[in-house]
Amino acid sequence: MALLPILTAPDPILKTVAEPVKAVDERVRQQMEDMLETMYAAPGIGLAAPQVGILNRVIVLDIAKEDAAEKSPLRLANPEIIWISDEDVSYEEGCLSIPEHYSEVVRPAGVKVRYLDENNQSRELEAEGLLATCLQHEIDHLEGILFVDRITALKRNMILRKLLKARKQHTLPSYAA
Ligand code: ZN
Repeated sequence: MALLPILTAPDPILKTVAEPVKAVDERVRQQMEDMLETMYAAPGIGLAAPQVGILNRVIVLDIAKEDAAEKSPLRLANPEIIWISDEDVSYEEGCLSIPEHYSEVVRPAGVKVRYLDENNQSRELEAEGLLATCLQHEIDHLEGILFVDRITALKRNMILRKLLKARKQHTLPSYAA
């Protein structure tokens, strides 16, 4: 297990479309474990491979409360949204790659996702609420899309300017929630 460094915006890797994995083998399984360790340490509730500089389609999530007795990690490779609800919902989103900035984002309230699990088995997951939002946020990362790309240009530019300024001043910690 290893902690991986989390890239922050504006990093071109975060804007790059990730490649599918051929199969979930030992190497991808190890990547999933390293990503989970990195996500829990941050702390965060989701992490996509491009955020740690790996351009493949792997995401991990755990929306259980931090103080929950049991962790409930999800490991997904090649996730595909195969259904979305008609109904939308707005959640205040944050991102480990955009530290300390939050914004309301409107997305479908429910989704169904097809993916390969850690044993290379094809599975489907239907989600609503925070899990649905989190799945869409992480799958967006695989397309090079950040939550700030789904808000108004005015808000986005304000957040990105602040991030750039913080980076120039070298005040950005490498692990931020
Ligand atoms: Zn994110």
